[in-house]
Amino acid sequence: MALLTVIVPLYNEQDCAQACYERLTQVLSDMSVSAPDNKDNKNKENKTEIETKTKIEFEIIFVNDGSRDNTLSIIQSIAQNDNRLKIISLSRNFGQQAAFSAGLEYAKGDAVIFIDADLQDPPEVIPELVKKWLEGYQIIYGKRIRRKGESVFKLLSAKIYYKLLHSLADVKIPHDTGDFRLIDRCVADTVLKMPEHNRFLRGMTCWTGFKQTSVEYHRDKRVAGQTKYGFFKMIRLATDGIFAFSAKPLKLVSLLGSTALIASLLLLIYVFVSIFAGNTAAGWASIICVIMFFGGIQLLALGIIGEYIARIFDEVKGRPNYIVDFTVNISDDYE
Ligand code: UDP
Ligand code: MG
Repeated sequence: MALLTVIVPLYNEQDCAQACYERLTQVLSDMSVSAPDNKDNKNKENKTEIETKTKIEFEIIFVNDGSRDNTLSIIQSIAQNDNRLKIISLSRNFGQQAAFSAGLEYAKGDAVIFIDADLQDPPEVIPELVKKWLEGYQIIYGKRIRRKGESVFKLLSAKIYYKLLHSLADVKIPHDTGDFRLIDRCVADTVLKMPEHNRFLRGMTCWTGFKQTSVEYHRDKRVAGQTKYGFFKMIRLATDGIFAFSAKPLKLVSLLGSTALIASLLLLIYVFVSIFAGNTAAGWASIICVIMFFGGIQLLALGIIGEYIARIFDEVKGRPNYIVDFTVNISDDYE
């Protein structure tokens, strides 16, 4: 028997909540995945691979991320009739990554699955994730092979972003993966020990280095409602990914600085030559160009350094990543 915890963040998802609950319970209810049962039989002699059915029990954690619509009342009424559905209600909107983290803290499962409420990542893929888990993998991320119903801008920006992240980040974060993934208990415990505030969970889980693989799937349209990731939230997540996983932008700044220095030294030689040649009067255009160039570089450098300082400031304050207002169907002894 294995316990699965499925964590779903919800922010103003009144139109998706019910459908999400139904599809998830349908998939999870009679899921017993057949796989070589090397979880329970680790120490037993197991020469001929025994195919056993592992019974899967589950709990679903809906994290209400400060919704201002009817999401909370809808999920509360579902939870009244089904105690496998737990609710963690945060005191305000803390963002999707914080909501996942809150769910993780309360998750009891041997494996934890992150999935969005809008059913863009189909719950029907979950048995495939679980199968890989039973084969011994500890992180199984969903890899998107097609993204239905997303704007050209989002597809293009995602592609460029993942390329950039891949080349900058010290940890190789796989292309075309989102938060939809299954992580083993050992990964969950490690992530829980990571106190950082700028949480980029897809990077943090990879960083742990446990055995990873992917399962390909088609990403669907949202079942209802609008995206909750506005332009600025998306930029915030994207910059968190880069600045939390790479110091290369800082190195780029020093490279830029030293290149500019060399360029200015060459320019100085030119200035001296011009003085001796006696043609120093004209030159307004070149002065403006130089000022603009260095001004630009300095501002860029300051901006990049600022990104890091802002994050250091955030970490130093040491505030919690989220505040739990109340929980439903969660006993006090959750640990
Ligand atoms: N979400 C959240 N807090 C936020 C923004 C989003 O909990 O501040 C949840 C949202 O309810 C959904 C998931 O995160 O379950 C993904 O959001 P969305 O589908 O809007 O993002 P997209 O798929 O467009 O990137
Ligand atoms: Mg979505």
